[in-house]
Amino acid sequence: MAEKKHLGEMLVELGVISAQDLKVALEAQRQMPAPLGVTLVELGMAKEEQILPILCQQLNKIDVTFSLGKDTAPPSINSITDALQYLVERAIKEGATDLHLEPTASGVMVRIRIDGILHEIGAPPILATQYPAAVSRVKILCNLDIAEKRVPQDGRTTFKVGGVEYDTRISVLPSQYGESVAIRVLHTDVRLGLDKIGLDSKTYQTFLKILERHTGLVLVTGPTGSGKTTTLYACLDRLNDSTKKIVTVEDPIEYTLAGVIQMQVQPNIELSFGRLLRSVLRHDPNILMVGEIRDGETAEAAVRMALTGHLVFSTIHTNDAAATVTRLMDMGIEPYLVASSLSCVVAQRLVRTVCRECSGRRCMTCLGLGLKGRIGIFECLFIDEEMRKLITRRPTADELRKLAKEHGMRTLHEDGVAKVKAGITTQEELDRVIYSDDT
Ligand SMILES: [Zn+2]
Repeated sequence: MAEKKHLGEMLVELGVISAQDLKVALEAQRQMPAPLGVTLVELGMAKEEQILPILCQQLNKIDVTFSLGKDTAPPSINSITDALQYLVERAIKEGATDLHLEPTASGVMVRIRIDGILHEIGAPPILATQYPAAVSRVKILCNLDIAEKRVPQDGRTTFKVGGVEYDTRISVLPSQYGESVAIRVLHTDVRLGLDKIGLDSKTYQTFLKILERHTGLVLVTGPTGSGKTTTLYACLDRLNDSTKKIVTVEDPIEYTLAGVIQMQVQPNIELSFGRLLRSVLRHDPNILMVGEIRDGETAEAAVRMALTGHLVFSTIHTNDAAATVTRLMDMGIEPYLVASSLSCVVAQRLVRTVCRECSGRRCMTCLGLGLKGRIGIFECLFIDEEMRKLITRRPTADELRKLAKEHGMRTLHEDGVAKVKAGITTQEELDRVIYSDDT
């Protein structure tokens, strides 16, 4: 089959096996039908660890059973506790952000999300045979109700891997074949400095001046998973010293910041963004971060604080920078208030970066993908005098966009193209990210 040939060719390209090995293996395969990976391992031409990453890359395209025979996961795994620990460890070691356990008609599917993309991985067989026990184990770890299987539940717990404690957020959803489990790993060590998130140097310098003003509203916008939180934390990290009081209102708190007062929104006890924000004002902060502006009440509170000598950061769900300005007005904020409070809107997406190890030629480090890690592409709309005047006239997003571009704003697409030209990412990856949402 063409796919198998492709796998073989890739292994030859990567120097895992020789062209001669491949020939022999394909011949052997004809006499004893089996997946090429299995044949190669049986012939002693390659080790399973060498083949797995390549198969992993192909999983989105072809129907390969990840397990090469029975021992994808170590055979010693014969308890549910060990199986879970093994999968979480594997996810963390591969740099995944999420681990998904999903019951299917025939067993269980395990996937991990690396740089925003899902990859299927092999599960210890005990996971399929005792799946409900695995779900119960997860629930026990998070203090959830193990008897309740009909409603979604959320919780958190920690896993220890390589001597490091990792915080995880866990979601359990009832599905047609049983309960589906998603485990998000909070990697505290991947927090980036503001100079590392991907802002081009000119934009970065202008952005720093905005932060130095210590007043005004800075909004970050983009779809879920576009790196907004990383950018906000990078800003707070940059400003965080003992001379300023920083307070955050979040849902949920993703990372703990030393020296920062962080509050968690809890709708079930009526601790909404709006209510927490009213209390924050009396707490005399200099800098405030509001996880997300979802409604007019939150928008108004954020604007009011920005107008009374606070530097306010938040996120909002829009497609680009210009649309964010009009969105605030649609939420009921008067144009003159938007004009006088807003200092900057940052629209962003995340693109995967070319693997540094192999320069995109595909290697073990990037699991044969040629891409490893992610960086932001940005569109920063700075509110200068002329922009302010335009905003008070309640302009359309197009009018705002036009003026911003005249004033030198680099659009998301332009910033992406610049990063392709610089060899930081690829055109294919940029297209995937830019055209996968409705911009
Ligand atoms: Zn590589």
